[in-house]
Amino acid sequence: MSRPVPQPTSLSRPFWDAAAERRLVLPHCAACGLTFFAPEPACPGCRSRHWAYVPSTGTGKVYAVTVVHRAPGPGFEVPFALAIVDLDDGVSMLSHVVGCPVDDVVIGLRVRVDFRLLTAGITLPYFVPA
Ligand SMILES: [Zn+2]
Repeated sequence: MSRPVPQPTSLSRPFWDAAAERRLVLPHCAACGLTFFAPEPACPGCRSRHWAYVPSTGTGKVYAVTVVHRAPGPGFEVPFALAIVDLDDGVSMLSHVVGCPVDDVVIGLRVRVDFRLLTAGITLPYFVPA
């Protein structure tokens, strides 16, 4: 068995298309200026539906981290560092931090987005030390 694969929706398709091109994009509201994540039909700040994806800085820092030793399902290689990353864009994203030993991933670590091909059509945004 393999790892679960995200299923793009009409709302998330542009996010996954950008990730496939190794670009991180985030929903940004034209009405109130709020950048948010994850995508929702309406802006969580002002309920406007006039938002669009904009490029992210792709940089941030680790807000919280845990090291996962028991695979949550088939297809996961353990251990891995699962972190909440505070992006410099002002939003948080749950992701893996890779590219270093898991014990090197600590709160406050500066990271930048990197991408890992999961399967045809789906590339995941991961983070690596900046
Ligand atoms: Zn808004």
